[in-house]
Amino acid sequence: MYDLIIKNGRIIDGTGSPSYFADVAIKDGKIVKVKKGIRGEAKDTLDAQGLVVTPGFIDSHGHNDSAIFSFPDQREKIEQGITTTIAGQCGGSQAPYGKDVPAEKIKNIEGFGPECEVYKTMGSFLENAQKVPQGSNVCMLVGHGSLRRAVMGVADRKPTAEELEKMKSLLREGIEAGALGLSLGLIYTPGCYAETDELIEIAKVAGEYNAVVAAHIRDEGDYLIKAVKEFITIIRESGARGVLSHHKAATRDETWGKVSHTIRMLKEANEQGVEIYCDVYPYHASHTGLASTFLPGAFRAQSASAQIEQLKDPAKREEILQWNLKKWGRDLSWVQLARSGSYPQYLGMRMDKIAEKEGRDEYDMVFEILTSDNMGGTACYFTICEEDIATVMAYDRAMICTDGGVAGNATVFHPRNKGSFPRALGRFCREKGVVSMPEMIRKMTAMPAAVYNLRSKGLVWEGFDADLCIFDPDKIIDRSEFTDCQKRAEGLNYVLMAGEVVVENAVHNGKRLGKIILREE
Ligand SMILES: [Zn+2]
Repeated sequence: MYDLIIKNGRIIDGTGSPSYFADVAIKDGKIVKVKKGIRGEAKDTLDAQGLVVTPGFIDSHGHNDSAIFSFPDQREKIEQGITTTIAGQCGGSQAPYGKDVPAEKIKNIEGFGPECEVYKTMGSFLENAQKVPQGSNVCMLVGHGSLRRAVMGVADRKPTAEELEKMKSLLREGIEAGALGLSLGLIYTPGCYAETDELIEIAKVAGEYNAVVAAHIRDEGDYLIKAVKEFITIIRESGARGVLSHHKAATRDETWGKVSHTIRMLKEANEQGVEIYCDVYPYHASHTGLASTFLPGAFRAQSASAQIEQLKDPAKREEILQWNLKKWGRDLSWVQLARSGSYPQYLGMRMDKIAEKEGRDEYDMVFEILTSDNMGGTACYFTICEEDIATVMAYDRAMICTDGGVAGNATVFHPRNKGSFPRALGRFCREKGVVSMPEMIRKMTAMPAAVYNLRSKGLVWEGFDADLCIFDPDKIIDRSEFTDCQKRAEGLNYVLMAGEVVVENAVHNGKRLGKIILREE
């Protein structure tokens, strides 16, 4: 007897092939039959008349590893149909920790002990994380920034031979323990201090395991092409498989359109046998820390308190202001405050308006928020054009991602956390026709499953895990907004994890049937 039969649905199986009508029978969390008019008894049936049945979505690039202990429901993920996420991205994984554990990380995780112990190595992290059922599956990469911080702190210099070996052995330990590869974050502290040769050496460890190296590259604006070139070199020299993370041209309009060139570069590399992919999220704003955006990398190679002291020095402050004016110009109306402990009243407001309210200069306001937030504070940056998103998405090795985490109950944040996959389907597939629906589904399922070697995921085929999405292709769309990121998607009827319905009409029922997925040999 089957556990469940999904009847009358139109199957988009993940391969990119055209859809077809069939029933899907599930037993013990697996798809056991895909066939028209399945007979036989089932404990339950689900009518998918008028709907499509696809594999559960795989988020190629997410930041929800920080939520594994604190928000294990992974609500933002599962409520947009994501059943598996590749986390630990942009060079910043939760583990390993070495020296200089930040004070805020010393607190206890209930039932597990101090954070710095849980996160000490990737092995200890994965072992503990596996004890917590998740609302959506999570996979991990090891962050290069985390390796470097563990071994060298935030030093702005080359590693010694010994330090380099230590980083490599920590990565090896992480991959052996179950991480899927390495991530780079070359705008962030301390990843930004690494030169190309260091990155190649470390990436070679991923290459040994035929694992993935995903990269937030060194620049997504004026030096985008140079940064893509560096990443291609790292992949070519290391023998790893590459994923260019959240690919975009992001500054002011001067750089828009450059992605046509970078996609050509990726294609050429692929033709030469370098295995390289990218991912993309469907929103015209990015999100990251104010410090990473408005403070030069060299300036960030010191403690937060030292940075604050220096920002108070008029000469230093002027120097940083000039650096910014050259990079961004005077107008900051494209910067929208997303996170700030000291200025919560301005969340969701653009920086020019905040400055006006406070009667200050815009950069003064940025520096003020940075110092009041102890160098914290984040913003959304409206620096991406929709045509570029479509150009990247149309690339046949582009996967869909959120670049999002789990925001708890915050209403002002980034809509990508909850809306990326419904938006890619509704806005970019249905409305703009960037690619066909089966091709879009492939970018969300079978392609990431193949890239990250998740062998039982990403296809509606017999023997595969019954992680599934069932939705109305004429209705599916995101509704979350920059100032109300909790709004649920429309047209997403059901999400199944391991054969059980966990989401109905984009509402999670609280069941946590996901887990931490480890690397497969
Ligand atoms: Zn990133």
